[in-house]
This record gives sequence, C-alpha cells and structure tokens, in this order.
Amino acid sequence: MPELPEVETYVRELTPALHGRQVMDAHVLWPRTIAAPTPEAFVQRISGARFIAFERRGKYMVLGLDQGDTLIVHLRMTGHLHVHPASMAPDKHTHVVMSLDDGRRLDFQDSRKFGRLWLTRDPGLVLAHLGPEPLDAHFSMAEWQAKLAGRRAAIKALLLDQAIIAGVGNIYADEALFLAGLHPTQRGGELTLPQLAALHASIQAVLLAAIEKGGSSLGNSSLQNHVRPTGAPGNYQEAHRVYQRTGQPCPRCGYPIERMVIAQRSTHFCPQCQRLG
Ligand SMILES: [Zn+2]
Repeated sequence: MPELPEVETYVRELTPALHGRQVMDAHVLWPRTIAAPTPEAFVQRISGARFIAFERRGKYMVLGLDQGDTLIVHLRMTGHLHVHPASMAPDKHTHVVMSLDDGRRLDFQDSRKFGRLWLTRDPGLVLAHLGPEPLDAHFSMAEWQAKLAGRRAAIKALLLDQAIIAGVGNIYADEALFLAGLHPTQRGGELTLPQLAALHASIQAVLLAAIEKGGSSLGNSSLQNHVRPTGAPGNYQEAHRVYQRTGQPCPRCGYPIERMVIAQRSTHFCPQCQRLG
C-alpha cells in the first residue's frame, strides 16, 4: 500500500504534468471508485475545472481546482493516478478517465478496486480524522508524547493508526521501529522520554530518506503497490533494513530478521537490536 513517501512522490511528480491543466470531460467506469459526490455529479463538476494546487495529507493526494472543488485521492492498495497520451486505450483496471486540455488523459487505475476519489468543497470532511503530519515543523515532541500517553496497544499497531500519526503504514512503521531500537510489541504508553524522542526522529528520518528515493516499489507487475507517475519504480525498497527481510541478517548485528503478526499485519524486526523493555 502506498504510504506517505509514495504519495508525496506522486504529488511532486504530478505537479508539473497537471499544473494549470483543465479537465475537458470525464468518465467513471467503476462507480464505486467515487466516494463522493455521485459519479454523475463528479463528472459534471470536474469537467471544465483546472488543477491549481497540489498537496498531500497523510496518504491522501489533495489536488485543488480553480472552481472551488478539491479532488482528493486515496490509492489504498494498488491505485495509480497516471497521465497518459490520449492515443493510449484505457486498460481493464482503469476506473476513472479525465481528458485534459493538452490532449493527454489523467487515468485512475486500480486492480484491487479499493482506491477512492472524492470531489469536495470542504476537504476537512474527508481529512478531519487524521493525526499530525510527521514531517510538519509543528509535529512536536510534546504532541507526540500526548498522542501515546496512556495507550496500552503495541507501538507497531499505534503507528498504523492514522489518527495518531498520518501517513505511516506497515513498511515505514517497521523501519522506524528498527532505527529507534524498539520492540514492536512494546506498549505505546510505556515508552520512556528517550524512546519517544528516538522514535520521533526515526519516523522523520525513514520518511525523508524514502521520499529522496521516490518511495518503495514492491510486488509484481499486476499488483505493484507503487509506480511513479513517470512510470518508474521507487528505489527505497533496496534500503529496507527489516521490512520483508525475514531470515536475512540484520544490517546492524547480523542476527536473522524475524516476522510476527501485530494487528493482523506482518511485522519485521531484529530480536537482538529491538529488545522489549
Ligand atoms: Zn540486529
């Protein structure tokens, strides 16, 4: 599933392709892709609108249009938003097509069909549940401490909770916990101040390093989690220290990386470098 670095890469690379472009018309081929409004209203309102603002919030793309609407996109597991030449026929996984005024087409493709698009006057309605942005200058230690205070759940599960911190998913939770030297089952509310500080810094470090590499691309061609708008893969998967490296040597101590399941999600860690307590 695309996480913060993959979505950030999308927004950065789509910006030059879409800035100032006007949607001439649109077609919805799989109605459930449109979370709101109705597919008919979506087509009517986006036709004629021009892309003028490009942001990311958590794992959401937030694309501002000149007529007051905002297009919000969540890629979920296998969603892709790509600009194609109009001559290229939409494939069977293309669920929304938007023709652009430069003769190209913005396509939303999604083999698993969990991705969603919203068109809204009030982005807050879609984004209000999200916790702090980990790379925001306002994401302070005080806020981080307050978010985890009293929480009895495993820190790995808490990192996946978008209300606690926005944009972190399975890959970067595992990588940040390794970098901070924390066992994934440690209870969030029991982290010491130095542990909280180490995790705060590690989350920021892994996210920034992953953005630098264009995110992580995993899976095979039909279920690829992340393909950049340019068609290129991200490269951060080559830098993963623990994620999906079960049985391979820890890059710090050489002990085999282990896998366990927390909150129904695969979790990868080094039992030597990430001790409980
Ligand atoms: Zn180790």
